[in-house]
Amino acid sequence: MEFEDLYQDIILDHYKNPRNFGKIENGTCELHHENPSCGDSITIYLKVEEGIVKDVKFSGRGCAISMASASMMTEMVQGQPIEKVLNLSDKIMEMLRGEIEPEEVGDLGELEALKGVRQFPMRVKCATLAWHTLNDALKENTKK
Ligand code: ZN
Repeated sequence: MEFEDLYQDIILDHYKNPRNFGKIENGTCELHHENPSCGDSITIYLKVEEGIVKDVKFSGRGCAISMASASMMTEMVQGQPIEKVLNLSDKIMEMLRGEIEPEEVGDLGELEALKGVRQFPMRVKCATLAWHTLNDALKENTKK
């Protein structure tokens, strides 16, 4: 498998046209994380009401994998209960790190396009950055 195979059309599409890119005014929490090994930088904005992720957006910059992963993430967790999102983000990070198989996560949707990073240890942190940030943001949010 060539490195270029990582950059499938679907990843490039999310990179060039990121979904839910921007800030949320009056959100319930925001969190910033960086991946120094690649230079990826991301901030997640959340609006959580009654245990549901009512809105999620992200801003930042980085490589195609980090931005595409964040874009896909916002689409997958929009409108979902916190507990479900925490569980999903844990599983997706485990899958991207190669600890469990993609099939064990369930329906990956477009995120299937990112499973190729499993073969490139240097890129795993790019793909997990958004999920890691979301996970931490939700945990902070529930502490309030
Ligand atoms: Zn990166």
